[in-house]
Amino acid sequence: MSTAPTVHQQRLLLTEIPGPESRARLERKKQLVADGVGTMLPVFVTEASGGILRDVDGNQLIDLGSGIAVTTVGNSAPAVVRRVHEQVDAFTHTCFMITPYDGYVDVCEQLAELTPGDHAKKSALFNSGAEAVENAVKIARVATGRDAVAVFDHAYHGRTNLTMAMTAKNMPYKQGFGPFAGEVYRAPMSYPLRDGLSGAEAAARAIDHLDKQVGAGNLACLVIEPILGEGGFVVPAPGFLPALAEWCTANGIVFVADEIQSGFCRTGDWFACDDEGVVPDLVTTAKGIAGGLPLAAVTGRAELMDSVHTGGLGGTYGGNPVACAAALGAIEEMRTHDLAARAREVGAIIRQRLEGIRAVHPVVADIRGRGAMMAIELVDPETGAPDAARAAAVNAACHQAGVVTLTCGTWGNVFRFLPPLSISDDLLHEGFDVVTEAFAATAG
Ligand SMILES: *Cc1c(COP(=O)(O)O)cnc(C)c1O
Repeated sequence: MSTAPTVHQQRLLLTEIPGPESRARLERKKQLVADGVGTMLPVFVTEASGGILRDVDGNQLIDLGSGIAVTTVGNSAPAVVRRVHEQVDAFTHTCFMITPYDGYVDVCEQLAELTPGDHAKKSALFNSGAEAVENAVKIARVATGRDAVAVFDHAYHGRTNLTMAMTAKNMPYKQGFGPFAGEVYRAPMSYPLRDGLSGAEAAARAIDHLDKQVGAGNLACLVIEPILGEGGFVVPAPGFLPALAEWCTANGIVFVADEIQSGFCRTGDWFACDDEGVVPDLVTTAKGIAGGLPLAAVTGRAELMDSVHTGGLGGTYGGNPVACAAALGAIEEMRTHDLAARAREVGAIIRQRLEGIRAVHPVVADIRGRGAMMAIELVDPETGAPDAARAAAVNAACHQAGVVTLTCGTWGNVFRFLPPLSISDDLLHEGFDVVTEAFAATAG
């Protein structure tokens, strides 16, 4: 089977962005789709592969976002397509809780093998990242008999009631949606650009905060993104995660790594925790796990996972057979093409290009991330104040030039790059030529 992308790998601008066909469809969307569901770049997509999205006007955009770290293996990656086709032809749903099938168990086998640590592991499958996080908390509460949940500043864990409580940022995720779930406590995160603390110092600060304000003995779990996602791709100072993990172990607190955005080769390892050899008790995964189909998982120590009574975990669609086939295809792509290594190559190119931008534009205060999960934080060089306006201007200029870029961060002043790992070096460079031009065009 050919692995060549089906869409010609070239940026192409036939109209302004969005073009007339997309604008007409946007009008229709406004009539029919709830306003609460926003779209950042309203080009309607007809086809995508490699590093290109093609729209209804025939424009071809370079994808530096992967639909928020989902199409890590590329859109419609060959092994995903093949396995999904085979599964759809065979059957589409039975409900695993009624009559099981191999695909679900095969995904759990892969997760046991790939997630950090060589202890006995089990998994449960769900539909979305938020659902996985909720279930990790359910498992930790049953296993410990405790209620409290520790989370961090700048955290993003989802949009359901419990995960809204766990998410830090009010707008747009929480505003007006309360009251939120209780027993969620927020600790200070390690944020090297802003706090200047070593990992050990930042961990001591967080631990003291939780000890004094909650009490270690009341905590069921501590849930942390090993590299912040929506919160700004902040990489905690070295030693921060190991110190927290150690404290959790010493105090019977379940250490949950939310690897929903950072997992599955994105950072140049299978999981971001691998970088410092941190072994979480539970890991939540979603996004990159299934090449675009909705699937999520909680994977962890077998004895923890098994603390929940039979029937206590599940859901109608969790571990749907088509989504499981897609996950097995995505993992096949990652293994066959050593996409963790590819993420490191992509990351090296991105870092070099971002260094070039920082050398000219002092608004770039920080270049951070790991592998193909990279970001820059923009601040006023005089005052250090977050510069969200510049981030928005650069973002808009990139979109108009046919490059899909994303922002993030508590102050909206972080530019993040998450290209599919199927992107070619040439296309990646062309994407960053556009980003570089966008910085020049928006300067002064
Ligand atoms: C996206 C994300 C979630 C929520 O996942 P959904 O599938 O959107 O529910 C949770 N945690 C992290 C770190 C994420 O990036």
